[in-house]
Amino acid sequence: MSLPNLKSFEVWFVTGSQHLYGPETLLQVAEHSEKIASTLDKSKKNPLRVVFKPVVKSPEEIHQLCAEANASKTCIGIIAWMHTFSPAKMWINGLKILQKPLCHLHTQFNRDIPWGKIDMDFMNLNQSAHGDREFGFIMSRMRIDRKVVTGHWQDPALHEELNMWCRAAAGWNDLQGANFVRFGDNMRQVAVTEGDKVEAQIKFGYSVNTHGVGDLVAVINKIKDSQVEDLCAVYEKEYKLAAALKKNGKQRQSLKDAAKIELGIRKFLEDGNYKGYTDTFEDLHGLIQLPGIATQRLMADGYGFGGEGDWKTAALVRAMKVMGHGLPGGNSFMEDYTYHFEPGNNMVLGSHMLEICPSIANAKPSCEIHPLGIGGKADPVRLVFNVNGGAALNASIVDMGNRFRLIVNEVQAVKPKQALPKLPVARVLWKPLPDMQTACSGWILAGGAHHTAYSQNLNSDCLQSFAEMAKIEMVLINKHSSLYGIKNELRWNEVYYR
Ligand code: MN
Repeated sequence: MSLPNLKSFEVWFVTGSQHLYGPETLLQVAEHSEKIASTLDKSKKNPLRVVFKPVVKSPEEIHQLCAEANASKTCIGIIAWMHTFSPAKMWINGLKILQKPLCHLHTQFNRDIPWGKIDMDFMNLNQSAHGDREFGFIMSRMRIDRKVVTGHWQDPALHEELNMWCRAAAGWNDLQGANFVRFGDNMRQVAVTEGDKVEAQIKFGYSVNTHGVGDLVAVINKIKDSQVEDLCAVYEKEYKLAAALKKNGKQRQSLKDAAKIELGIRKFLEDGNYKGYTDTFEDLHGLIQLPGIATQRLMADGYGFGGEGDWKTAALVRAMKVMGHGLPGGNSFMEDYTYHFEPGNNMVLGSHMLEICPSIANAKPSCEIHPLGIGGKADPVRLVFNVNGGAALNASIVDMGNRFRLIVNEVQAVKPKQALPKLPVARVLWKPLPDMQTACSGWILAGGAHHTAYSQNLNSDCLQSFAEMAKIEMVLINKHSSLYGIKNELRWNEVYYR
């Protein structure tokens, strides 16, 4: 299923007040709110629609609005702001039923205090500084996880913070009712890719079900030769094709086999309404090759993927692709593969056997064929490319038995200085923050997987909002982290989540 148009989703801009102020003030509140909502809606940073809702002034209006938000298919979250004082007991019944993510916008209509003109009328209207505190209290008192964004509504930095929250809400919304398919089970004996799929459905809203790989092979076998020819022509156009794969090349048949696999998986996913999948090289019965270019291109089109049966990462990759939709850069399945321990220049080389998404490529990928040491199948066709330097992150969800934990590590990607002529896979180099020792030791102490979702266009703030929407634990490793702090946080979280 391709990525949704984010502009088809709304966040509702809700302003709280009360009748105490009289109609004249309330009219002004509404006017200001409408202006803020429309400015946020038009902001280039805003990926969704921001829709103004009439100012709510009573428990009944608040409850009604929350019920409407729950029922709306297009509303994926609420931005709430208290221009004036909105006594928060009025909010209890509404907040109790609200199922959509909430962002508390702590702003004020006036940027500056009008020093020479300020009087009590101005004070009565511009009360967010205390009105938002009353609203914040009831949310905290009710233990509701939410995002709080503070700043003036015209500040581009605030627009960026809202952008990341809106994107988290879009990813969260996309997982609700989503289906993922596993071709075969887990790689034998592997621990971290396992987990409680029932609990995941309760927590994240998506379901994961299996199909024998033979079901997929049956679909692949029905793909017509003409379709295969057409797709080979697309490969030829979009990538630098290795000589052996070109027309009359000695491995042209392998390219056709790969194209047929892509068409078959794509049809299977479309017919089953799936948003992503897993496979495993240990269960390829009837498949000629391990899907390489197929998986890479399907990821580029927005499907989630996890290798070796890793359904948690497949779902995370999908959600992050939705969150990053429309931004420069990409999101991919990733694995910490091997290290560079040069003193003063420690780095991680990230890659996988084949399945790295070309949305993160820094140039036109080359389409190549090479043997694969494991899996016992024919040589798989794959896309090979490098990845640009810059800020990025790795995210991993693990099942701790009594809860899910999201671990995020901010990294600085580095463009490779040397060519890697004998490494026939897509690859990324990065320096984890705050440094290799802290990041890797911390990641391992937190139980973070070797599989991750790698992002060039989302930040850890976005993923924290996502974790809060899912009500799961998040451990962040970034430039502020210390091993002492990480260890304590992990210990304290054991108690918090008991
Ligand atoms: Mn792997």
